[in-house]
Amino acid sequence: MLINGEWVGASSKEKFEVINPANGQVVGVVPKCNSTDVDKAVGAAHQAAPAWAAKTMAERSKALLKISQLIMNHQEELAKLETMEQGSPLRKTMNFDVPLCAEQFEYFAGIARGLTGETLPVGPWCMSFTVREPLGVVGLITPWNFPALMVVWKLGAALVTGNTCVVKPPSVAPLTTLKLCELAMEAGVPAGVVNVLTGPGETVGETLVQHPLVAKIGFTGDTATGKRIMNLASATVKQVGLELGGKNAFLVMADADVDAAVEGAIFGGFFNTGQVCAAATRFYIHESLYGEFAEKLVAAAKQLRYGDPMKMETVIGPVAYAAHRDKIESYIEGAKKAGAKLLLGGKRPSTPETQKGFFVAPTVFGDCTNDMNIMQDEIFGPVVGLARFSTPEQAVALANDTRYGLCASVWTKDVRAGLMLANQIKAGTVWINEHLIIFCETPWGGCKQSGWGKDLSTMVLNEYTTTKHIYIDATGASVKPWYAILK
Ligand code: NDP
Repeated sequence: MLINGEWVGASSKEKFEVINPANGQVVGVVPKCNSTDVDKAVGAAHQAAPAWAAKTMAERSKALLKISQLIMNHQEELAKLETMEQGSPLRKTMNFDVPLCAEQFEYFAGIARGLTGETLPVGPWCMSFTVREPLGVVGLITPWNFPALMVVWKLGAALVTGNTCVVKPPSVAPLTTLKLCELAMEAGVPAGVVNVLTGPGETVGETLVQHPLVAKIGFTGDTATGKRIMNLASATVKQVGLELGGKNAFLVMADADVDAAVEGAIFGGFFNTGQVCAAATRFYIHESLYGEFAEKLVAAAKQLRYGDPMKMETVIGPVAYAAHRDKIESYIEGAKKAGAKLLLGGKRPSTPETQKGFFVAPTVFGDCTNDMNIMQDEIFGPVVGLARFSTPEQAVALANDTRYGLCASVWTKDVRAGLMLANQIKAGTVWINEHLIIFCETPWGGCKQSGWGKDLSTMVLNEYTTTKHIYIDATGASVKPWYAILK
């Protein structure tokens, strides 16, 4: 772990293993820290905070640019590490995750230099303005589905705005975070500004959330964990940014380009083996297109090559850990029992490459209804459900019939009609004729039980700064007219 610029073990000397989900082998052993270590890391971050905050935006921005460069210098190493610890195919980690991590550091380095306050026109007798200040020590608790990207989204924004960080990576996949923070040190980020603690969320995470010196928790993960964090954070009135689960609708309207929608559905439903909070998982298809869409989707999903994620031709790797595979399988069994029609997959693949790993074959269910668990719960695997609708009003009602509100997509050739639907869908993002495209420039974050706050875009600068109002009296008078109220 990284505490105050030094690589250290847990004070208890305990450790735990990181398992490669493609073959069950151990890929790393990391310290299992406890609350004493949390105290040390938070203490180091607290001590480092004033000097880091006192640097100019240009200085911090340059450090981020250097990290970005180092990430690309270590592209292959980082990509292989992520593939080995999390199972995401190398084809994706090399070409998507790692370059995007580098790009995001560049983006944060750029936008931070445009951070401004406001001058407020209160009256000619004063000067009233706002300044944006770092929060202090922030705790960043990140998930395993995109271990590198999720930490970069938060770390980049928090660092450039002058905060010091204590990162708690996922226990399933902590290695890429450790490597990224090593690169941050190499880029010249001072000791104590970035600290990483490996260990269980229930102990390390919760101690971090309750720590009085931590000003904010930036969290991505399960909704149940988010609720627990909100609860615990209330004792110290800590800010929390919560990027939680999703159960995202994909609406195929009567005039949609079916082939384009099927391509979008494959990407939206199966990218990262469906382990994406933004994944398309509930498909509502106009009754006139249902048969054609279902047939083409199944044919396309059959072509997805799953197997050894270290092979560049593999597009679907294993899911991240054994218990997660079991959870997905129980949803599949539940859907069968609930009466959904299995159109593809539904069982464990049994090729030589998938024997020892935690694989789930791409699975498509038809004839689903919204009362089924597979249409309401975040499964977080390569499992999608299809249902029919007959009117646009019904489509919107079905899309909104969820406790989540992360994202949705509408597929139509009529952009005006698409826009009207987008206005009625309760979600943080609605795409028209696309699903799952996220840019540095666009805000990411949901509503309802998908959480609050935004990652990415210039809006993220608000998440890691506080606004201070400063007022200067310009009258020079010892008695002001408004004092009369007490006279
Ligand atoms: P969690 O929400 O449990 O994990 C996310 C992060 O939170 C991890 O770093 C974890 O640590 C930490 N954590 C866990 N419990 C606590 C706690 N009580 N206090 C503070 N931090 C905590 O998700 P899981 O990894 O367990 O995955 C479970 C399900 O969550 C998945 O099956 C999926 O449905 C959903 N999920 C959704 C994500 C999204 O982006 N929407 C991302 C990841 C998961 P540790 O790893 O040590 O437990």
